[in-house]
Order: sequence, then C-alpha cells, then structure tokens
Amino acid sequence: MKKFKTIVFDIDGTLTRSKLPLDEEIAKLLSLLIEKYQLAIISGAGFEQFKWQILDHLPNGSKLENLYLLPTDGTVFCRYNGDWQCQADPAMSPEDKTHIAQAFENIFEESGLEKPKKLYGELVEDRGAQLNFSALGQDAPIELKEKWDPDNKNRELIIKILKNYLPGFSMRIGGTTSIEITRSGIDKSYGLKKLMKLTNFSKDDILYVGDKFSEGGNDAPVLALGIEYKEVKGPEETKKVILELLT
Ligand SMILES: [Mg+2]
Repeated sequence: MKKFKTIVFDIDGTLTRSKLPLDEEIAKLLSLLIEKYQLAIISGAGFEQFKWQILDHLPNGSKLENLYLLPTDGTVFCRYNGDWQCQADPAMSPEDKTHIAQAFENIFEESGLEKPKKLYGELVEDRGAQLNFSALGQDAPIELKEKWDPDNKNRELIIKILKNYLPGFSMRIGGTTSIEITRSGIDKSYGLKKLMKLTNFSKDDILYVGDKFSEGGNDAPVLALGIEYKEVKGPEETKKVILELLT
C-alpha cells in the first residue's frame, strides 16, 4: 500500500454498525494506528455522538493529540489539547429548519412508501448546521433499521421528491435510514478541505475510508477532491484495512 500520513474514517457503516459504539477490537486497532498516523474522523453526526460511539471506547493512553474530529461534516472541528476543543460554524437559520421540517411532513404519503407503524424518537434531528432525517426515528433498533433500506432505494426516492421542495440545500444518504440535509456545499468534501486548511495535510497524504461512495452517498463528495479512498462494507472490512496499514 502507498505510504499515507493521515487516515480519515467515516463512522456509521465504517468504524461501527449504524449508531452503535466501537467494538473492542476496532478500538484497540485504532489506538495502535494512532501511534503511526494522524487520524481524522468525519461524520454527519454531532460531537455527542462521536463521544459515545468512539471516544468513550478508545483505550486509556491513546494518543489523542493525533486525532482530529469533524462532527456534522466538519461544520464542527475538534482537536485534543488536554481536553477536546471544538470550533463550530454558525447553525442553520430557524427559517431554514422550519422549511425543511415542512418538506418532510408528508414524505411517506408523497413517496408511496409505507409509513412506519412506530416512530422511535424524533423523525428529524437538529444538528446545528445539519438536519438529520431518520425514517424510523433517531432511536430505532438497529435490527429494524438494517431491514428498512438495505439498497438505498427508499432514500433515493425520498431525495428525488425533496429536491423539488428544497432548492439551495444538499441531501445525502447516511447511516442506515438517514438523510442528511445541509445548505448546499456542506458535505464531507467541505470538512476535508477544512481539515487540510487547519492542519498541514496535503491531499496526497490522506487515505479516506468510508462505506457510501455510490451516487447520493454521503462519502461520494470526497471523490471530487481526488483523495485516495477505500470503500468498505462495514467494520469487519475496516479492521482489515487498519491491519494492512499497521504492517
Ligand atoms: Mg457511513
């Protein structure tokens, strides 16, 4: 494998199964990797989710000085200096949020998709500069979520409809049932450009590891930057990539 200096990971579907914490094995592998490389983690999720999914599970003594966090596609940027310090872009305006919430109101009827019998938590979560739609609710059990849209077709259909209502916004498929909505131009390429600007990494130094590079996927914008990438189907494959980087 080419010599990289910086490895960037997506979270859901890459480091973890959707909205589940890191497993012990991958946590150990990350703490080894961080001794040899600079790491960055980017996701549509907010910092709180980074904390309980990732940070709380890294072994004590992990070299956090080498880790950069980019919650909500890098609209928040965090580095470690004894504790985590984050800078955030301004949140989406209340008008934008209302407008987006309205566009989702009748989405099941309009798309012809069956309306879920039960909603687990909020349908649309406010993440500051991003809103996040989860078809079964933000807290739905993983077993149900994994069955809802394994081929992304439901969400492709929903995005197609939403585009009529939400010009000026970007919508991308993330997680297992999620659609991430931001102002146009805010996506993972935005976060990675910010990472390169605020550190000394050049795009030739970086390997990006993610699970959703197909059209409409939330890792796809990274391709336009010309960064090398590896597509994985889940944490088990990511472990193999890490092991290869460690040899
Ligand atoms: Mg993912």
